[in-house]
Amino acid sequence: MNPVEEALKIKDQIVAWRRDFHMHPELGYEEERTSKIVEEHLKEWGYKIKRVGTGIIADIGRGEKTIALRADMDALPVQEENDVPYKSQVPGKMHACGHDAHTAMLLGAAKILAEHEEELMGRVRLIFQPAEEGGNGALKMIKAGALEGVDAIFGLHVWGTLPSGVFGIREGPFLAGAGEFEVKIKGKGGHGASPHQTIDPIPIAAQAVLAFQTIVSRNIDPIETAVVSVTSIHGGSAFNIIPEEVELKGTYRFFRPEIQKLIENRMGEILQGLTQAHGASYEHRIIELTSPVVNNPKMTKFVKAIVQKYGLRHEEVAADMGAEDFAYYLQKVPGTFITLGIRNEEKGIVYPHHHPKFDVDEDVLYLGTALEVGLVVEFTKI
Ligand SMILES: [Zn+2]
Ligand SMILES: [Zn+2]
Repeated sequence: MNPVEEALKIKDQIVAWRRDFHMHPELGYEEERTSKIVEEHLKEWGYKIKRVGTGIIADIGRGEKTIALRADMDALPVQEENDVPYKSQVPGKMHACGHDAHTAMLLGAAKILAEHEEELMGRVRLIFQPAEEGGNGALKMIKAGALEGVDAIFGLHVWGTLPSGVFGIREGPFLAGAGEFEVKIKGKGGHGASPHQTIDPIPIAAQAVLAFQTIVSRNIDPIETAVVSVTSIHGGSAFNIIPEEVELKGTYRFFRPEIQKLIENRMGEILQGLTQAHGASYEHRIIELTSPVVNNPKMTKFVKAIVQKYGLRHEEVAADMGAEDFAYYLQKVPGTFITLGIRNEEKGIVYPHHHPKFDVDEDVLYLGTALEVGLVVEFTKI
């Protein structure tokens, strides 16, 4: 079986699915219609199905090894501004990240794999997950057993900065991890004319903001990438009152868990030292939003070999500060996150992800299906 030829045969079907999903976008954890369509097809093709809310885990094949492929199905709260026949029919909702294409491409792969089930030397698990956009749907799928018995996992995302039809591949850290912090610096309020009778939290907060800048500039290896941004500062209400406390909020980004820990620890040490020096106290709350997507080198090399074997175009791509909950699968199982270029200037497909005019070059979606099928066929042979 040649995956590219097989995918090319159902090219129009993949586009038709994508358009149908595009016209009927559903937000995270509301993917009722989308998942129903996916489930009906998978059942018809002989997959064993497990429902996880609006998510689906589907298995086919027999053998020692299990390879998992993941697609996300959720749309975004965006009003579509494209004037196309397949424009979103739901006001205020739109597939502005391309998850409609992911679902369609994986459905295409599911169909081809089912038709060639007897040629498969191992098991295939398809994961159609809900709520990638901020809902961490991946965690729900993992909790429900999506990775049980899985030897490797691959995810594919259409990519607006890559030329149409080119796969983006990268070993190691690929997408950033993100965290949020909230700090309260607690002093002792009083009259603005009698600072000596207070513990003024405002100069302490000002020092904290500046000291946080030294985490990236003085503590982190210059070769590494990280961000620490204080994005909100609140304290006080009148010109002549020293407030009791000041609140700071912000975000930090990182590519490696060591850097994440370093940022979190240094923030704590700075707050501890500064407040102690001034006789104040503090609260420090860290909220982890997403982990970084770190591609397993061996699995990434495997993808590269498959891409080359089937004559697909690819590029080594740079890391990106965007985030993806695919990170959580990669923490448990080796795998890699792959991008597929869908940018086509001639067709006016140039808008970034999450933009009201975001679109994908549908002519290359079959290539995504082809790669997914190719990965399965070659992996189960190993
Ligand atoms: Zn997105
Ligand atoms: Zn996305």
